[in-house]
Amino acid sequence: IEHLVWLRNDLRALDNPALYHASQQGKVAVVVAVTPQQWTEHNESDAKTGLRAGLIQALANSLAALGIPLHLIHANCFSELPNEITAFCLKHDIKHFWFNRDLPIHEQQRDRSVSIALKHHNIDVHIEHADLIVPQAVLSQQGTPFKVFTPFFKRWVTLLAQQELTPLPAPEPQAEPIDPILLNLDWSKPFREDLWPADQDTAKQRLWQFCHHKERHYQTGRDYPIQPATSTISPYLALGSLGPRQCLEAIIYTCDQKERNWQDSIWLKELAWRDFYRQLMEHFPSLSMNQPFKPNTNLLRWRNNQDEFHAWCEGRTGFPIVDAAMRQLNQTGWMHNRLRMITASFFTKLLFSDWRKGEAYFMSKLIDGEFAANNGGWQWSASTGCDAAPYFRVFNPTRQSETYDKAGDFIRRFVPELAELDAKSIHSPSSEQRKRCNYPEPIIDYKPARLAAIDAFHELKML
Ligand code: FAD
Repeated sequence: IEHLVWLRNDLRALDNPALYHASQQGKVAVVVAVTPQQWTEHNESDAKTGLRAGLIQALANSLAALGIPLHLIHANCFSELPNEITAFCLKHDIKHFWFNRDLPIHEQQRDRSVSIALKHHNIDVHIEHADLIVPQAVLSQQGTPFKVFTPFFKRWVTLLAQQELTPLPAPEPQAEPIDPILLNLDWSKPFREDLWPADQDTAKQRLWQFCHHKERHYQTGRDYPIQPATSTISPYLALGSLGPRQCLEAIIYTCDQKERNWQDSIWLKELAWRDFYRQLMEHFPSLSMNQPFKPNTNLLRWRNNQDEFHAWCEGRTGFPIVDAAMRQLNQTGWMHNRLRMITASFFTKLLFSDWRKGEAYFMSKLIDGEFAANNGGWQWSASTGCDAAPYFRVFNPTRQSETYDKAGDFIRRFVPELAELDAKSIHSPSSEQRKRCNYPEPIIDYKPARLAAIDAFHELKML
């Protein structure tokens, strides 16, 4: 075997440019580097590590059917990889080394070091693109990156229409099927496999079912956490067992069937947000260094109250919708998008706590945690980010709850102590009801907390 393909957050055989193009050149083997210490340093959740392990094994099984072996390289940190990977390549007499570009800053540094080490030994390095729907830089007419989503999206759609839309197939079988190797996955962690099966099919099934049956109603249903109206494919996209261009294919196919224009799909727009935040992370490296997009927001004096932080993490703030959301995160590793916005706004504006702490807590729990979307979502919520959201937009958790969980059923699911309350009082129970249900009083008073946050941002504007 002359070609070795290194898979990272692209754990798939379909639409995997590095794997596909390598397989067109000759026989390939696949390698995955296991770097638990690095993942811990990146705050990766147990849930994500567990799903990652399961998906690697599932991929090894399906590659084995194509006659392609998958090996693991064990290291602690990225810094050990240049040596480990070079040693592996030399041992197996590899001539060509392939991978798909990874966008986060540490990963790019890692890839540069590995490439340099390999070239030193005359091993050719081939780099492909797999993680974005539109892989080239989406720039304004002046050649600068967009700082706001809407003009980015317009340009993104134009570029998209000019490119090849069909995803790549899986590699052809290169030999008789080999026995799947039972990998050493002792670094795996427990996660809710009942909700996120670690196999090759679930993501594809969810994607196609969503596009066939739900995508049309996405716009009206997506804000209601009790409704299964979104695709729930984010963990698979984050680890790359599903590629974004496979999503594009599904949306184009189903829109064509229904004689709708796929460019108008609201769901496609969400996938464009994914590209947007990833491109932002690339163009503005300071985002990866704990910095806000708007530098002057570094002057905000966050309250950072520890007791409030723990109450928020554990889902006992006394705001039922916030608590239900945080418990959903803690129990399942996932949180509905509307709730991510509500809890992040609550944390940054009403508790006036540093968004970086909330961002880190999300990352440590999310099964779909990924830096660009998480950082983008948090900075959007905190009004420190690049979006047009005005700083005085502060979500009122009770109003949000009344609007998006009208009957209170989502609250009932995750805050069962309030299950007996009716749809009117469950969003903001009386003191007497709280006592009876053994549910805490609100940890903050909404109105003054809101005004204090607005004042703090306003002062910043005056500077
Ligand atoms: P759908 O609504 O079906 O959307 C399809 C896909 O589009 C998603 O799987 C995701 O890949 C992408 N997407 C959707 N919305 C966004 C968005 N606003 N930004 C970027 N991509 C988007 N998403 C993550 O994948 N990882 C994160 O760590 C993450 N952290 C977030 C933190 C905050 C504070 C906020 C407000 C949002 C965050 N999001 C994150 C975005 C969004 O909440 C999730 O992508 C979505 O809830 C996943 O559910 P779904 O797969 O059913 O999404």
